[in-house]
Amino acid sequence: MNESEIFSRLLTVIQTYRATEKEGKVLEYRSPNTLAEILNLDGPEKNGDWDAVFEWVEKYLTYSVKTNHPAFVNRMWVGANLPSVVGEIITAVTNTSACTFESGPVSTLIEKYMIEQMLEITGFVQGEGQMTTGSSNANMIAMMSARNTWNAQVKIDGLTGQKKLFAFVGADAHYSMDKAANILGIGTGQLIKVTLNDNGEMVPEALRQSLEKVVAEGGAPFFVAATAGTTVRGAYDPILPLVQLRKQFGFWLHVDGAWGGAAVFSPKLKAKYLAGLEEADSFTCDFHKMLGSSLVCNILLINKSVHTFGNVLSAGDGSYLFRDEHVSEVEDFGTVSLQCGRRVDSLKWFLDWKYFGKEGFARRVEGYLLLCEYAEKLVRKSPELEMVVDRTAFNICFRYKVAEERANSFNLGLRTTLYQEGLSLVGVAYIDGKMVMRLLLTNPATTHVDVDKFFERVIEVGNRLLKHENG
Ligand SMILES: *Cc1c(COP(=O)(O)O)cnc(C)c1O
Repeated sequence: MNESEIFSRLLTVIQTYRATEKEGKVLEYRSPNTLAEILNLDGPEKNGDWDAVFEWVEKYLTYSVKTNHPAFVNRMWVGANLPSVVGEIITAVTNTSACTFESGPVSTLIEKYMIEQMLEITGFVQGEGQMTTGSSNANMIAMMSARNTWNAQVKIDGLTGQKKLFAFVGADAHYSMDKAANILGIGTGQLIKVTLNDNGEMVPEALRQSLEKVVAEGGAPFFVAATAGTTVRGAYDPILPLVQLRKQFGFWLHVDGAWGGAAVFSPKLKAKYLAGLEEADSFTCDFHKMLGSSLVCNILLINKSVHTFGNVLSAGDGSYLFRDEHVSEVEDFGTVSLQCGRRVDSLKWFLDWKYFGKEGFARRVEGYLLLCEYAEKLVRKSPELEMVVDRTAFNICFRYKVAEERANSFNLGLRTTLYQEGLSLVGVAYIDGKMVMRLLLTNPATTHVDVDKFFERVIEVGNRLLKHENG
């Protein structure tokens, strides 16, 4: 098979997949053991056999989760925007590293351009930014920037002999904060989980008390993170009261907008959910979540920066890569990234940006919120279903109503049945010990009819399981 035949076959495979990815089951479920047998990964190696390559591709596609299917409501991302898919293909074909201007001239300029755009939208002045490998790592870099800003000497001396450092997050903050505390030598024991109100939002007064306690005991509160859209409940921690507390305690204020940070595109939603964001020290947002760019696509921004990334992240001798004579021309992103090789994540993002525009993103996010309101109404109207907690933004945490003592096992069974029958893939989580199904609507093609169908299936399968139990 020559290259032209390979590419035309590939295109046919892609088109066939795309043509049917919204139909039928959301996946052909097989148990791990059965799937392993079907795949037979240990099968013969046939050197240079293109037919064999395409056979593997077919197997991969047959048993993959169709993330663009309307019944895929499991995660914060879905099948990617088409312009970003085009960008990904070009990125793969051109295979380079975005660590230097030398190896990625266009990607470097695109990344800088996108950072400028995002700084402006966020309201950060004299800021800097970088695309990272996702919000988990962006949160860690933010915490690291806070740590080394608190004491620049930590970079050389480490934490030994320093005051004990304390970081503060809401009790529902993403687990990547615990990982960051571990990796950065803070220790998870020094990551204080601040009390939430009934809506799942951080209580500023509780934060103030925790800060005072730490200070009184001789600790140093160096980092506070507000979550803009918590992963399970979708709650937005209030930013403005934290800005006030920063005046007194002098910590670094980070906003984790991995999920709900996308509201920044809509002036209306920004005012409602992100008031005070422009006063934060750093902000991260995943473009691969609500905004639909293909995984991974993230931005981390720093406000009023004095070359923070350079001071905090640069280390070691990279002169074989980053040559001084280029620095004046354009600064290389590789000098301030965690890793050496950097995947080009900027092209797909840029193509989405140009295709949909800022307005397009704003309308998309606003549209999701309307759809969420509709979904919540359906739950509240249905005699079979109930909201487990109130919806404050984008997350709908509901369950099928049965006696409290068996609600968890029943709903888990219901959710597993939906998954294994390929009817729907919906997330699960626990809120105060109660299992909830977490409906997330992040597919721009999703309509009211899809939402209707989703709940119809949940009710249908729930009723069937009940009948089965009783009969
Ligand atoms: C998804 C999420 C993260 C992690 O982001 P990744 O890009 O998957 O690493 C962090 N914080 C919140 C609030 C999230 O929802």
